[in-house]
Amino acid sequence: MIREVQALVIGGGPSGLAVAYSLQGDTLVLEKESAVGGLCRSIHHDGAVFDIGGHSFHTPHPEVYDLVQDLLNGGLYQQQRDARVYSHNTLIPYPFQRFFDRIPDPAVVRECAEGLESASGDTAGADNLEAYLLAKFGRGIARHFLLPYNRKLWARDIRQISCEWTSERVAASKSEHERFDHKSGQRKPLQPDTQVGYPREGGFEEIYRSFVPHIPALELNSPIARIDPRARVATGPDGRQYHWEFLVSTIPLPALVRMVEGTPSEIIALADQLEYMSLRVELLLAGRQLGPIQRIYVADSDVPPHKIAFNHNSSPRLRAKPHHAIMAEVSLSEDKPIDVNQIAPRTIAFLCDLGILDSPRDIVWQDHVDVKYAYPVYTHHRPALVRGIKDWLARHHIYTVGRFGDWEYVNSDRCVMRGLALGRSLRQKYAVDGR
Ligand SMILES: Cc1cc2nc3c(=O)[nH]c(=O)nc-3n(C[C@H](O)[C@H](O)[C@H](O)COP(=O)(O)OP(=O)(O)OC[C@H]3O[C@@H](n4cnc5c(N)ncnc54)[C@H](O)[C@@H]3O)c2cc1C
Repeated sequence: MIREVQALVIGGGPSGLAVAYSLQGDTLVLEKESAVGGLCRSIHHDGAVFDIGGHSFHTPHPEVYDLVQDLLNGGLYQQQRDARVYSHNTLIPYPFQRFFDRIPDPAVVRECAEGLESASGDTAGADNLEAYLLAKFGRGIARHFLLPYNRKLWARDIRQISCEWTSERVAASKSEHERFDHKSGQRKPLQPDTQVGYPREGGFEEIYRSFVPHIPALELNSPIARIDPRARVATGPDGRQYHWEFLVSTIPLPALVRMVEGTPSEIIALADQLEYMSLRVELLLAGRQLGPIQRIYVADSDVPPHKIAFNHNSSPRLRAKPHHAIMAEVSLSEDKPIDVNQIAPRTIAFLCDLGILDSPRDIVWQDHVDVKYAYPVYTHHRPALVRGIKDWLARHHIYTVGRFGDWEYVNSDRCVMRGLALGRSLRQKYAVDGR
């Protein structure tokens, strides 16, 4: 039997939930996992809570902030970020480009300061990430942190990466005034004094679980395997079928175009040129309480993670737990050979060297999560590829949104914004009788 719906939404992550929240009407969300949240899901173990890499809620969109606070009944806890950079055997405050003068080696400080002084600051002509970092920050800061850090994070030649995202993500140096404005509508990089949010109870996923009572219909454990765009029927691997008037997908574009029957080979070729970065998130459970640091960023290649997040410091409730959760993020790609079995022991040894752990015996449980699609990569052709794919799909009443539906380096707040906006426009286009 075919289930009839006006709007079918594939994926119960932030984007899919926001689309359904906005559409209301006869809308059904299908989620392949047993829980909503997508990349914002949490993992509970022995009272501690892990996320899939460090997550905090911060947004320049007041309407998204108000919605989330509303859905959580005011349950979003706010605190100042405490992030550090590990460099030259020392922890300094984040970001490096603002605090490099705390490095104990005067030669490094001098090199960074002189480089910054003589940097052109003119990034208009920089057509790739490497050129951008050199032009904006000078040779010293680039050499001592930003180049090795970005090569480690993106796990590829960063000259293949464009710069259109940098004004949102790469913090300014000490010579520039910059702030994360929670009301401007324009994302800026996080600063040492930025207030970040996290649910007072539970993990980051609570934000997205709070959407569920407000969407018309949701089926969990319901993957979609095939989409017939002419008959407008989506089919699960178990044969369940859904007939729709229009479809919204939040799943990665390369997977979607393969699911859609009759996708021309040129469209599949466009999707196959989209690059992404995969991530291993090592989950380490400390059997005791740890200190106040929330994040450590590391450029050194002999320390496997580029970022380590201490999730117990996300809320007072997690801080009070007897066991504390550590998430170590290691990016993976074909260009970055790494022995994944060494990630945990080397990360634990690093944390012992820093004095954050007393000994490897502090870790009482460990596991990992592998995320195939973790970060969309901004290659130079990305905008044209995405446009070509989306235009073809829209001709078949299939719309895409989200981190891998738009192929954009967006956080969950922006996914909500985009989902709400797409819902509004589709409601008009298809005369949905909704909110
Ligand atoms: C390491 C890391 C750190 C991050 N930090 C932050 C942060 O601090 N703050 C923040 O706000 N955001 C952060 N993000 C980003 C945030 O996690 C994502 O932007 C957000 O989850 C994307 O939402 P989405 O709905 O577009 O996609 P997803 O979250 O990927 O959701 C897609 C959903 O589709 C489902 N699905 C896939 N295939 C199918 C199928 N065939 N049928 C049915 N369902 C399917 C998936 O199971 C998933 O639930 C971070 C991300 C990463 C990787």
